[in-house]
Amino acid sequence: MIIGNFKFIVDSNVGKLAKWLRMMGYDTLFFNGSNDSSMVTTALNEGRVILTRDTQIMKRRVVTSGRLKAILIRSDEPELQMCQVINDLNLDCQFRPFAICLECNQPLLERSKQQVEGVVPPYVFRMQSQYMECPACHRIYWRGTHWQAMNRKLNKFEECQQKEEL
Ligand SMILES: [Zn+2]
Repeated sequence: MIIGNFKFIVDSNVGKLAKWLRMMGYDTLFFNGSNDSSMVTTALNEGRVILTRDTQIMKRRVVTSGRLKAILIRSDEPELQMCQVINDLNLDCQFRPFAICLECNQPLLERSKQQVEGVVPPYVFRMQSQYMECPACHRIYWRGTHWQAMNRKLNKFEECQQKEEL
């Protein structure tokens, strides 16, 4: 596995992490099922790190033997959960920001202004010149206020390293 290029599978008990990891550009599956074995199989097949609060998963031989990397999340507070992952893996919070659809984990495609005319609200069309589209859900992303708020979030996560030591 290349350092800095982690892929994840996020258990539903730490579901909030999926969106934030995608925001940073990490390929992240959200596991919504109840069958832990299928999550473990997917993680093994696709080289994904498991993020979970389930201690049973940590006891599995594939995990204890080191074949499969899993991180047991300690906090029940989502931002602290994120800090733990960032610190444990030394993640780059600005890995590939806004390269992945936050909803469906697909890589976004660049779109020209002409391509989104009539699709985005007129005031957005007037203000913005760069757009990206998710090939799966066709959601259009642009650098508006929502984007800025997410950017602030990423900057905040970059401060995690110091924070967790307190
Ligand atoms: Zn999408």
